[in-house]
Amino acid sequence: MSKAKKKPIFNVQKHSASRLHYDFRLEISGVLKSWAIPKGPSIDPAVKRLAVQVDDHDLDYADFEGVIGEGQYGGGPVLVWDTGWFEPILEDAATANSLLKKGILDFILHGHRLKGRFSLVKIKGKHRDWLLIKRHDLEAQRGVNITAESQASVLTGRTLDDLRKLAESGMLPHHRCS
Ligand code: MN
Repeated sequence: MSKAKKKPIFNVQKHSASRLHYDFRLEISGVLKSWAIPKGPSIDPAVKRLAVQVDDHDLDYADFEGVIGEGQYGGGPVLVWDTGWFEPILEDAATANSLLKKGILDFILHGHRLKGRFSLVKIKGKHRDWLLIKRHDLEAQRGVNITAESQASVLTGRTLDDLRKLAESGMLPHHRCS
């Protein structure tokens, strides 16, 4: 019998900290490799989005939706903007981790809002700056602003404002920073 392989996690958390951004995460080598995308992902291949690599996160952070307490690092509401799994596109003996080290990783996303081929490409001469690019395929949509069209949580339908209000009224436990 073949061993069932667990599909690697992909997710995007919309996070209103000192600035709004989207945390894009891929499960690689047992952690969530993470990039903060100020303008959020795009499904238009003509639009390249800056993605600043940030600290790895634990796998169990992927589902977190709530409010990080004020005064903590990253304080503010977080919602799950997209979730699913991904397939790295690997050739020869490459692994997702070795390709990340080389500065280019191609993958197929299986999310609710982000689907099909994407690439993360490191900007030359930069330590942490990458570009997230939608590749041309049947899932690509020219001229569509996916983050404007879909603003609420893909899991609960809650907006950042909903989360803020729930936290203010004590309906939502505050969360430690992770
Ligand atoms: Mn963040």
